[in-house]
Amino acid sequence: MRLRQRCEHFNALHSQISAQGINPYFRPIAKTWGTEVEVGGKRLIMIGSNDYLGLSHDPRVMDASAQAVYHWGTGPGGSRFLSGNMVLHHHLEERLADFVGKRHVVVHVTGFSANLGALGVLITPADTVLCDRENHASIFEGVKNTKARLATFAHNDAAHALKRVEDAKAARPDGDVFLVTEGVFSMSGELAPLDEIAAIKDAHPDVVFYLDDAHGLGVFGRGGRGSADHFRITDKVDFIMGTFSKSMASIGGFIASDDEDMLRYLRYQSRTQIFSAALPAANTVAVLTCLDILAKEPERVDRLHEVTGRMRQAYRDIGLRIGNSSSPIIPIIIGSDEKAFFFSRALFEAGIFALPAVYPAVPRGQALIRTAYMSTHQDRQLDVVLSVLEKLAKEFRIRECDLDEEPQ
Ligand code: PMP
Repeated sequence: MRLRQRCEHFNALHSQISAQGINPYFRPIAKTWGTEVEVGGKRLIMIGSNDYLGLSHDPRVMDASAQAVYHWGTGPGGSRFLSGNMVLHHHLEERLADFVGKRHVVVHVTGFSANLGALGVLITPADTVLCDRENHASIFEGVKNTKARLATFAHNDAAHALKRVEDAKAARPDGDVFLVTEGVFSMSGELAPLDEIAAIKDAHPDVVFYLDDAHGLGVFGRGGRGSADHFRITDKVDFIMGTFSKSMASIGGFIASDDEDMLRYLRYQSRTQIFSAALPAANTVAVLTCLDILAKEPERVDRLHEVTGRMRQAYRDIGLRIGNSSSPIIPIIIGSDEKAFFFSRALFEAGIFALPAVYPAVPRGQALIRTAYMSTHQDRQLDVVLSVLEKLAKEFRIRECDLDEEPQ
């Protein structure tokens, strides 16, 4: 299809959804209080944010970031490679290394660029990359650029991953084999069986294990040290990638490893590091302050799990289908894309902000509302969310019992 046709095809779809008043995307938020936002003059309870620890609105983080602007200015003025490298970046790298339990860290300007840059340097066309089928787009995009052989293994299936490793080693004995998965999956909220996946390294120590822990950092592990810490397998992971755009109340990303030579290689060779601007001071300081707060207030992580546990149980009691989430991300499975769009609009009308994930982000017919919780959610807000969901679940017939009664 030529460019103009592709564009028209997309716009026809866009107009159709917009005409029905069900386009939930790119909604302009006019004000935010963290757990609540204002959109189009309406105040809504936010259950779609990745700011899991609610630190984006913590006055200590806000003050420290504001001070950083006065000290350092607003923009970095260049890439870290050249004129934008600040001592702050190095402080943050040291603190993160200590936090995640790896010797060295390289900070990037976003999580997406950390994946793109790191995978682009580490992997060559002679290699094989084994990805969990549900890995994030930034991983697949990073791998695609390398022209390596890409194979997927069944979601969270360590036995299948092991089989793929053995096949890859037999088929391409001269290339490296990379095993890439996530700690917590961004749509399903499922925790990966990292203990089982890491055990592959016992039999195949030469396999390179790369873990994207965007949604596990600040959520799992001791004091939020991440999913690898949760399973006590940090020493078996060769590279841990993390982001600051979720629990760390900022933007940015990093790669951590025990191998200094490898990280120096990444620092100097990642194209997204060399050819893109540095993380601004305000964002860097926000993460440093979050790490200080987490060290002093690990109970924030406990509160997050309390909130999440309560919501998960209540959703099951209502009869909603929520998959196998064990994290602050709780998907509510709706069915068709169209129904998910209408459901999201009904939530909006009832004062709740939560967005649908539809095909191709999720399998066809498995459209869901991606809900996510924060340690700063108050019980009264959660009560409102639950009463709205109970009512809408009946109205939209999305409960387990509704499915038994009628074909979808
Ligand atoms: N990896 C995963 C698993 C993610 O969910 C995301 C963001 N949604 C990223 C990487 C990219 O991170 P960032 O938003 O910091 O660019």
